[in-house]
Amino acid sequence: MQEFLPPRRLLLGPGPSTVHPRVLSAMSTPLLGHLDPAFLAVMNDIQTLLRQVFATTNRFTIAISGTGSAGMEASIVNLVEPGDTVIVGVNGVFGTRLATVVERCGGKAIRVAAPWGHIIEPEAIEAALQRSGPVKAVALVHAETSTGAWQPIEPVGKLCRTHNTLFIVDAVTSLGGVPVEVDRCGIDVCYSGTQKCLSCPPGLSPFTLSDRALSVIKHRRTPCQSWYLDMALIADYWTERNRAYHHTAPISMLYALREALRLVEEEGLPARYTRHQLNSDALVAGLMALGLTPLPPAGHRLPMLTCVTVPVHIDEAAVRAQLLETFGIEIGGGLGPLKGNVWRVGLMGESCTETNVLTLLNALEEIGIRSGWISSPGVALQAAARTYNRSHH
Ligand SMILES: *Cc1c(COP(=O)(O)O)cnc(C)c1O
Repeated sequence: MQEFLPPRRLLLGPGPSTVHPRVLSAMSTPLLGHLDPAFLAVMNDIQTLLRQVFATTNRFTIAISGTGSAGMEASIVNLVEPGDTVIVGVNGVFGTRLATVVERCGGKAIRVAAPWGHIIEPEAIEAALQRSGPVKAVALVHAETSTGAWQPIEPVGKLCRTHNTLFIVDAVTSLGGVPVEVDRCGIDVCYSGTQKCLSCPPGLSPFTLSDRALSVIKHRRTPCQSWYLDMALIADYWTERNRAYHHTAPISMLYALREALRLVEEEGLPARYTRHQLNSDALVAGLMALGLTPLPPAGHRLPMLTCVTVPVHIDEAAVRAQLLETFGIEIGGGLGPLKGNVWRVGLMGESCTETNVLTLLNALEEIGIRSGWISSPGVALQAAARTYNRSHH
């Protein structure tokens, strides 16, 4: 068997995103023991940097070993005990997954649904809070990667305070791409993933808990059903005075995350958010010039994930295959009910550049001209260029 050399790809799908060479090189540095003081300093740095991106002062801010779904599972399994009720916003794949996890923990999920591509209206959450008895938590997906919808968080945070319930937010795709303001929005549990807008390989889940959530965990009636994701145990490793062994930290992944977060800090969060919005505006202008309309209504569209409806005269799977084979570009197709109907273009972290937007639009125009569904070449690139020109003046 030969060494595996991956083909060259431009990652413009729903994740993983492009990883900066500095992050790749951090991963290849020598290992340390996971209790080595030099490694514990790496963990401290990660906690400090994560608090900045989460905009929180939460002491309990760590990276869980596992992908974004591990953060989701950890949120639910630590807070929800059998019989507890959780209101879950369901408007895509990830809200659906959250509700499933609640039920697997023996909880009762009250699904507040909205059509895919739309947000969950805060009024609908309020109505559910008023109708239901005591509710342990409300759980929402900030950036629904399956549809491109950008969920308003702040009004729901206020509702959770009024109704004295915990607020769980999935920020897997949003963290590092749009503001995730844990403290200001009253979020009690927030989890993310490394391979979306943080541009690190998949494998860790940034995770933060408010003191209120910590106290709920401390006063559980039953032990957390997951040993591996039991935050009461993991806290002992991430807390400076304890550092007790729980499981072996994924050392190289933590090196990678530290470097990825350093890159985020160097760019600065405001500049990073502006970059994501500008490139997304240019991409949407280009795609709309090709007759591809974003699924979510204007005002609720995520910058880092653009989900467009593909007209029936375009063979969407064939175009994606050509993008990959001919141009080395990966974009995503639809999931669940959107399968075959949409494209999902990710402009996440390092993948979010003007060059990449123009490269993708150019490739789509080439394919469209060859297949006959584009008659006037250049319209997409021109539309994108107009957006960039406006912003440069
Ligand atoms: C990607 C994603 C997840 C799951 O993360 P994995 O790293 O695939 O486990 C959860 N929620 C949202 C919104 C996501 O985009």
